[in-house]
Formats: sequence, C-alpha cells, structure tokens
Amino acid sequence: MTTTELIENYPGFPQGVTGDELSRLMEEQAKRFGLEVVPEHVVEVKLEGTKKIVKTEERSYLSQALIICTGTEYRKLGVPGEKEFAGKGVSYCATCDGAFFQDNQIVVVGGGDSALTEALYLTKFGKQVTIIHRRDALRGTKIYQEKVFTNPKIKLLWNSVIQEIKGDSIVKSIVVRNVNTGEVTEHQIDGVFLFVGLLPRTQFLKGLVDMDEEGYILTDQNGQTSVKGIFAAGDCRKKLVRQIATAVGDGATAACSSEKYLELKE
Ligand code: NAP
Repeated sequence: MTTTELIENYPGFPQGVTGDELSRLMEEQAKRFGLEVVPEHVVEVKLEGTKKIVKTEERSYLSQALIICTGTEYRKLGVPGEKEFAGKGVSYCATCDGAFFQDNQIVVVGGGDSALTEALYLTKFGKQVTIIHRRDALRGTKIYQEKVFTNPKIKLLWNSVIQEIKGDSIVKSIVVRNVNTGEVTEHQIDGVFLFVGLLPRTQFLKGLVDMDEEGYILTDQNGQTSVKGIFAAGDCRKKLVRQIATAVGDGATAACSSEKYLELKE
C-alpha cells in the first residue's frame, strides 16, 4: 500500500487516496483501539501443544492465536545486470525511486496492475515511459489499461522481453528480444522498473501450514489455516483478487475468527 502512489479502487475516497495517507489513517485508527506495533523480523513459528511460538531475530513471543498477514514481495526478473544495478537504475518501487528519473527515459516491465499503475505514476517524472510486455495483450484492470493507452507519455513495446541490463556505475541500456521474431535490439535508457508479479512472504512458515505450490497460504472461508488457531489474511493467502479492499475484509474475518477461537478454548 505504501509503495502505491494513488489508490483508486478503495471505497470511500472518490478522488482516490495516496498509499501513504491510507496506511497512516489505518494505523492511527487501529492504535486508538490499542494496537501495538513491534518492528521485528519473524524468522520462525513453532507449535508447543496449542500454543504458537513466534521467533523473531530478537526474542520469542508466546501466543494462543496468530494471524499471518505478511503479504508479498516483487518477483525478480532474473536477467544479467538486474542484481548488479539494483538501486543504480533498477527499481521495484516507483514511489520510492521515480523522482530520481526527472526527464529521463524510463522502462517498465510487466503487463499487470502493478506495471500499469506504476507506469502511470512515472509519467510525472520521465520524458517517456515505455512498457515492455512479453505478450500482445495486457493483464491489468481495464480502467488502468485505458489510462495507459491514452497517456501520450506512455509507449508500449509488445511481445518483448529484456535479455540484459547494461551500464557502468549506473544503468545505461537494455537489450531487448522480440519473442516472435527473435530480433535483438539495444535501447539507451536511464531507469528500469520491474513489475513481473509477486511472491508470497511465507518462507518462515514452510512445513507448518498448508500452502499451494507457489507458497500462498491455504485457508477456509473464516481465514483458518491447516493449523487450528493460525489464521491468514491479505495477499499472502491463496485467493483470486489481491487488493486493499479484499485484504481489509480478510483482516476483519481473521480477527473475528481468532476471537471466536480464543473464546471456545477458554
Ligand atoms: P501480475 O498480475 O502477476 O502481473 C505480472 C505481469 O508480469 C504479467 O503481465 C506477466 O505477463 C508479466 N511477467 C511475469 N513474469 C515475467 C517475466 N519473466 N518476464 C516478463 N514479464 C513477466 O502481478 P502484479 O501486476 O504485481 O499484480 C499482482 C496482484 O496485485 C494482482 O492480483 C493485481 O490485481 C494486484 N494489484 C492490484 C492493484 C490495484 O488494484 N490498484 C495494483 C497493483 C497490484 P503475462 O501477463 O504474460 O503473464
């Protein structure tokens, strides 16, 4: 949420709302009801009977019920130069890095909602934003597609993939291959933003709760995972639609389910 500039599909904000503002408001509201935030990195969750032990890098927490909402992270493209130039022209966050590319040639890779919303945001800064997509049709939502097609700063390069990212101390060019013709071309650019999908942040739960083959947590309609008392909500869950609106619904369901679980235990 915080890495999205303008959220246009969350109810209650007819003109849209920035990701920063929405997250600030949600946190403020939750804190009013007693939320405590501990900034620690969870490395493992173990069971001790019905108790859940959450191990962070600093300490362990003992709990009866647990709600997992660790979300997803951006998938890497896996081409030469991507790792080397991360933070030096290769980015996964337009709101974090977009302003570094004033009047520059920017490339966005992907055809989903992330690529489209971030490309639209990047037109604020770039001279031109080129979306490189591996097929001839976009995957993203229609409203974003229409905005992309009518934005004069956005160009689309269809049926194409990046083969290599090149540069010296910063990114200078990309090598692109047309997947239909096999033609390889090199393009001088300043920034590459990669939005080729998501990976669930659930590694630390492997072997504990049931997941699908990609690592998304399986739950029932009440948010209950395969372990009683462990619930999951939001993008880390296997589900059809990954939006803030659906994550909020998941969160409310998981909170009520865990409350019921604790009541029944007592
Ligand atoms: P996504 O929907 O999985 O789209 C990933 C895109 O990257 C696809 O177009 C895919 O091409 C392309 N791709 C994947 N691997 C690639 C590779 N190796 N090389 C080149 N291209 C590759 O991911 P996302 O856009 O991050 O969205 C994830 C979820 O978050 C979706 O459910 C989306 O609706 C949601 N989301 C919602 C909003 C919003 O509602 N405002 C904003 C952002 C994200 P193909 O199309 O050919 O598979």
